[in-house]
Order: sequence, then structure tokens, then C-alpha cells
Amino acid sequence: MTREYRGLRDAVLTILGVELTPKQLEAFAWYAQELRAWNERFNLTAITDPEEVEAKHFLDSLTCLLAMGRQPRGRVIDVGTGAGFPGIPLKILCPQIQLTLVEATGKKAGFCRHVVDSLGLEGVEVLHARAEEVGHMEAHREAYDWALARAVAPMPVLVEYLLPLLRLGGRAVAQKGETGPAEVHDAEGALRILGGRVEQIIPVELPRVAETRYLVLVEKVAASPARYPRRAGIPSKRPLGMAD
Ligand code: SAH
Repeated sequence: MTREYRGLRDAVLTILGVELTPKQLEAFAWYAQELRAWNERFNLTAITDPEEVEAKHFLDSLTCLLAMGRQPRGRVIDVGTGAGFPGIPLKILCPQIQLTLVEATGKKAGFCRHVVDSLGLEGVEVLHARAEEVGHMEAHREAYDWALARAVAPMPVLVEYLLPLLRLGGRAVAQKGETGPAEVHDAEGALRILGGRVEQIIPVELPRVAETRYLVLVEKVAASPARYPRRAGIPSKRPLGMAD
């Protein structure tokens, strides 16, 4: 096992109390290698240094389990997944989840398909689409137990992407940096309109990452009105519940 991947194993054990299997570690090592190789052709991510990929992509993605519990079940959707974060690392650790990855950029969705196929991950659907469209598709609207997003949009915009996808009682997890708590405040109006209630804001400290990160856990407590999400581009242009 390379030094880095011993590091990932130790960090996952310390932070999440979960022991990665040799097969899972191998999957992460392969994923990091492919990310680096594809990044030379397509600009998938700014981070490709192996130790940084381990901490800022893999470990950070896996910290969603601090909000989801160690053994999440049911249907999970990751909106704006980019090169697969946080969805694919979670699927490697928790093979029992049914996962949908949504990504607007074709080359990134293509990379996710490649990783899912090559690692033989079952029960994963990759949608090259925008969240605003997926939120109105019958197979996806109000269909998920968990809706996740990392580094996609400010909280008032994000809740318009995520909440229509959740069943009543389902939960959204937004992975946020230092601005997390302030963004929650800005999203109060949008949450009220879309039927969300902030359940918890969980601070997360990662090794070798200076800033505190936050998981914002939102429960869906009422149906989202049928007109949301608004059409592509509108949620980010005119965030819900904010003064124009
Ligand atoms: N979640 C990944 C990628 C973050 S970058 C990570 O943390 O590494 C944000 C990604 O969201 C980009 O790949 C962008 O194409 C995608 N995105 C932004 N708005 C979107 C939308 N409305 N629907 C689908 N994907 C979106």
C-alpha cells in the first residue's frame, strides 16, 4: 500500500470510525490515477496532487457520512458532481446505496461514467443534465432519500436544486466552506418556500485543510411547489427569497 493510501485509511478510521478494505483502497488509488490522467486532456479539477486528492476530494466527500450515518440506505442523488464528488467516494464506501450523479458538463459526466463502469459500481446512474431539468422528471422528482452537493452554488440557489428531488422526510446535505453558517441565514426564505428545515450544521475539520468546513443538513418537511425548480439559469440569476 502506498504511503498516501495508508493515510486515507487512517484518516477515515479516525474521522468516521470505518475501516476501508484493501479493495476499496485500491479503487481510490485507481480513481486518483485516472483523475490525473484525464485532467491532462480535460480540465476536470484544480486538484491532482495525490495527497491533496486524498484529503480534499476523497476524505472530504466521505465526511458526508457524519450527516448521513455510517450505513446510509436508499436513493442518493449528487447534484453538480463534477468528477464524481461526493457521490463516487460514498458509493465506494457504501455499495448498498442507489446513486444518481447529475452533471451539466458533458466531459465531466463522461469521466464519471468511465469511473463507474471501470470500477464495476452497480446501481449508479449518470445524468448529463442540469438540476433544473432533473427536478421536473417523474423518475427523479420527490424520489430521493438524500440529495447532496459540494461546491455547486450558494445555499439559496442550492436548495432550489435539491429540495424538489427529495421525498417528504428526505434530507439534503450541502458541503460548505467557512461561509456555511452565513449562507444558511441567506437561505431562510428559500427554505420556507420549498419546504425545507435546517436540522443541523455540522463543523468538520480535515487533516491538512486549514479552514473549518460545514455540512448543512436540511430535512424536507413539506412538499415543494410544482413550479420549482424554475427553468435553467433562473435559480442562480434570481435566488429565491432574496431581495432583488
Ligand atoms: N461537486 C464537485 C464539482 C464542483 S464544481 C466537487 O466538489 O468537486 C460545480 C459543478 O457543478 C460543475 O461541474 C458544474 O458543471 C456543475 N453544475 C453547476 N450548476 C449545475 C446545475 N444547475 N445542474 C447540474 N450541474 C451543475
